[in-house]
Amino acid sequence: MSTLYITHPACLDHQTPFGHPERPDRIRAIERALEKERFTSLIREQAPMAEMESLALAHPEDYILRLRDISPREGLVRIDEDTVMSPGTYEAALRGAGGAVLAVDEVMTGKVKNAFVAMRPPGHHAERIRAMGFCFFNNAAIAARHAQKKHGAERVAIFDWDVHHGNGTQDIFWSDGTVLYCSTHEAPLYPGTGALSETGDHGTIVNAPLNAGDGSEAFREAVETVIAPRIDSFAPDLIIISAGFDAHWRDPLASLNLTESDFAWATQKLMDLADRHCGQRIVSVLEGGYDLEGLAKSTAFHLDALMGRETGA
Ligand SMILES: [Zn+2]
Repeated sequence: MSTLYITHPACLDHQTPFGHPERPDRIRAIERALEKERFTSLIREQAPMAEMESLALAHPEDYILRLRDISPREGLVRIDEDTVMSPGTYEAALRGAGGAVLAVDEVMTGKVKNAFVAMRPPGHHAERIRAMGFCFFNNAAIAARHAQKKHGAERVAIFDWDVHHGNGTQDIFWSDGTVLYCSTHEAPLYPGTGALSETGDHGTIVNAPLNAGDGSEAFREAVETVIAPRIDSFAPDLIIISAGFDAHWRDPLASLNLTESDFAWATQKLMDLADRHCGQRIVSVLEGGYDLEGLAKSTAFHLDALMGRETGA
């Protein structure tokens, strides 16, 4: 059984202002890391554009149409302080969501064991009706709902290890007990949500905030004692990873001190849970990660783990 890697060159056409951390070079850095010999066995597919029907699983239609309509023909349109649309943004965002949907299709039908979607813009800050924090469509949320609607998954667990709290994913699933949303993140930090006390209407929101300066030990303890037991007892039919790599020690946007080995370790933990509950099914979607070297190494280690290798050799 194999690992699927999904991307599309259109995600390089989402332009952000000079100096913006969420930039096309992120994907180029990942692509370069995956040119290594050991990644030749990855199955590669291109991300298609998501259909309205898929986007509407997480966002109302008028929100989607509004984004389409304000999409600029030239120049940049500012959505908030750090979220901008360029002429290529809307298609890139559609393909980000479409890639996540395709990953779910291939994993749920058993064509591949697991999948990683390397697209930008990221998604986990996108709420039902608000684009923010570099995000427009919530790819992980769309993937979870698509697995339920199209493939009969009853329960989906999402683990979001991006250094920022996934306020968007939490917002979308706040009143939905069929999706378990778990997050480790630095607090206090943007966007300010993700307190322990935020547990959702059904107790299926699980926040494990970490302190600035925390590293491997605190992260692994949170996964071992808080996140993994909850996923285990939830017994999901699919595990989705919101894979942001900005908790890496090199990252300029935050102050956690994880290494690429921590991401490989966490991936392995989730693979053990997926093995126990859901036929090894894991779909991972890229979120943040703004130091190019940290991002490329972490992604390579994450993929090594998904491909069944012990460590990033
Ligand atoms: Zn982030």
